[in-house]
Amino acid sequence: MDLGFCSFSSGSSGNCYLVKSDSTNILVEVGISCVKVFENIKLFRLTPSRLHGIVLSHEHWDHTRGLSRTIERTSHAVCYATKGTVEGAGKRARKLTPERLRIIHSGETFMIGDVEVSAFSLSHDAAEPTGFSFHRNGKKISIVTDTGCVTDEIREAIKDSDLLVVEANHEKNILLYGKYPYDVKRRILSDKGHLSNEAAAECICDFLKSFTKKRMPRVLLAHLSLENNTPQQAMLTVKNILEEHEYYVGKNLLLDTLEKGIVTDMIFL
Ligand SMILES: [Zn+2]
Ligand SMILES: [Zn+2]
Repeated sequence: MDLGFCSFSSGSSGNCYLVKSDSTNILVEVGISCVKVFENIKLFRLTPSRLHGIVLSHEHWDHTRGLSRTIERTSHAVCYATKGTVEGAGKRARKLTPERLRIIHSGETFMIGDVEVSAFSLSHDAAEPTGFSFHRNGKKISIVTDTGCVTDEIREAIKDSDLLVVEANHEKNILLYGKYPYDVKRRILSDKGHLSNEAAAECICDFLKSFTKKRMPRVLLAHLSLENNTPQQAMLTVKNILEEHEYYVGKNLLLDTLEKGIVTDMIFL
């Protein structure tokens, strides 16, 4: 195995993923409780002392909720986040002593164990949000959630990923006619909000258009809203748009959704 990926939870109420090689284990986001994190890593025969890094995309609660306890109870995991994210996390970042924190910048590439990580900017209503790509032995995983639009920088950063985790937050019409207050709807739909199913599909089309590797890429739809989306709806909208562009699931890509509180199998690359 060059790289492995597993989701512990994905959605507007809590996000946490595990990216690993044989010797390095990286938690991406800690939007679930520390108890859940440790329960979940145990399923993969990992102990807290074997967590090497925690990378955070931004400070929102659904990405940092379990941060301080997880840092406290792992012996040496280092947190990688931008200055804006750390400051924005406030009390939840209080256990990040200098030796347990490495401030990163978008555009930067750094190593966590034997995994190379590159950070790129997202467009979201957070202080300094970043998405991440993970590289090892020519394999690549990219995670893009919590962005209101897909910028050229994002498109370039996710190019040729073997596994792309991309936000499909809401179905536009469900959101528009739903019960959320007008200002919340406007925030979600803005350039600094979240990607709709339609926007996710367009992002995937562009990704497939520029894909140069031989093996079929895997795409996982992530950060689905419980209120304004369902896994079935996300799959339907995305598949329809892909098919309009003559991309077919099973032929050009593998497609699936990630859900809140559902621990997936480990995907090996
Ligand atoms: Zn989020
Ligand atoms: Zn957010």
